Amino acid sequence: MSVVSKRILVTGGAGFLGSHLCERLLDAGHDVLCVDNYFTGRRSNVAHLMENPRFEVMRHDVTFPLYVEVDEIYNLACPASPVHYQHDPVQTTKTSVHGAINMLGLAKRLRAKILQASTSEVYGDPVVHPQTEDYWGNVNPIGFRSCYDEGKRCAETLFFDYYRQHRLRIKVARIFNTYGPRMHPNDGRVVSNFIMQALAGEPITIYGDGSQTRSFCYVDDLIDGLIRLMETDDDVTGPVNIGNPVEMSIRELAEAVIDLTGSSSELINEPLPHDDPVQRRPDISLARRVLGWEPKVRLRDGLQRTAAYFVELRKELDARGGTG
Ligand code: NAD
Ligand code: UDP
Ligand code: UDP
Repeated sequence: MSVVSKRILVTGGAGFLGSHLCERLLDAGHDVLCVDNYFTGRRSNVAHLMENPRFEVMRHDVTFPLYVEVDEIYNLACPASPVHYQHDPVQTTKTSVHGAINMLGLAKRLRAKILQASTSEVYGDPVVHPQTEDYWGNVNPIGFRSCYDEGKRCAETLFFDYYRQHRLRIKVARIFNTYGPRMHPNDGRVVSNFIMQALAGEPITIYGDGSQTRSFCYVDDLIDGLIRLMETDDDVTGPVNIGNPVEMSIRELAEAVIDLTGSSSELINEPLPHDDPVQRRPDISLARRVLGWEPKVRLRDGLQRTAAYFVELRKELDARGGTG
């Protein structure tokens, strides 16, 4: 089957999800422009794509206007881990809000289709479980996580106002916890922390009593869902939950990582961060229906591939005498 080649902009393209997305779009024969300010992303995430003449990287902060010519925009630019997005919370809100305005302005000028990487965090500490797209959420507007949660909620508002006011073709994906190779080893997210700790034989840090739940999606499944959403008919705007509905407690995740890596690490408890959601699981009925999508990779396989990546990374870092 021949593919019509498009020019596609991926903001946040040097990050964890963005680098996988760039790779998949290039594999499908498209021209890809990766825009990133390297706040949490790394050149090494896309180094293997540099040889491809269809790939281009631009260092740019999406809070400033961007004038380029493309057919489609995936807007992923935004730090995603609590440690990173709370490091400079004002910049986090600016990235979500000003970034969305600039990318929507760009899409409006070009009449380009635009997809927003939104998040399950728009549901906050949810009282509806599992979360469906029609749930409005339970978000603290003034807490430590608010810069991320409210920034992403405002970005969704902007997407729907540009859709209604300017007839833009929009797609909003609500992404649930995703893991896999190229996660930043020190970004503080639970999967990277636990695997790095297990490999180093250090204590596994469970925040709180570990009874809080999350549902973890492997990156390949997630990217497949995003691309399917972008390819839907114009009447499909979302928001659509994209995530893996298999829910587990953080303690169970810790045990799975120990089991998989054969580590002798002990489990220790540390204080629970502010406003840490108690439970999270996507209802993916809508994604199943409109995208014909559901996750395929089982947790054990996904964790194994992620651990293999971190083993290699640790070897490289040791060889360079650095910590990443
Ligand atoms: P990441 O931190 O690895 O990637 C984010 C990328 O955006 C980085 O490359 C970073 O340098 C770049 N960036 C940040 N601010 C920028 C700015 N102002 N201008 C240009 N680039 C900027 O995180 P990720 O996990 O790959 O997340 C990608 C997107 O998906 C984010 O928008 C995030 O909110 C969303 N998301 C991710 C998850 C997840 O579990 N990974 C869950 C929900 C939503
Ligand atoms: N914008 C951009 N690239 C473009 C077109 C617009 O970055 O190709 C930015 C521009 O800086 C503007 C924002 O997008 O502030 C919103 O654009 P829009 O046309 O919606 O609003 P206006 O320009 O009227 O404020
Ligand atoms: N968490 C943990 N130990 C860690 C890192 C995170 O117990 O070393 C917990 C965290 O408190 C949260 C869950 O794991 O309950 C998921 O955290 P993460 O930062 O990965 O994602 P988010 O909270 O944004 O879902």
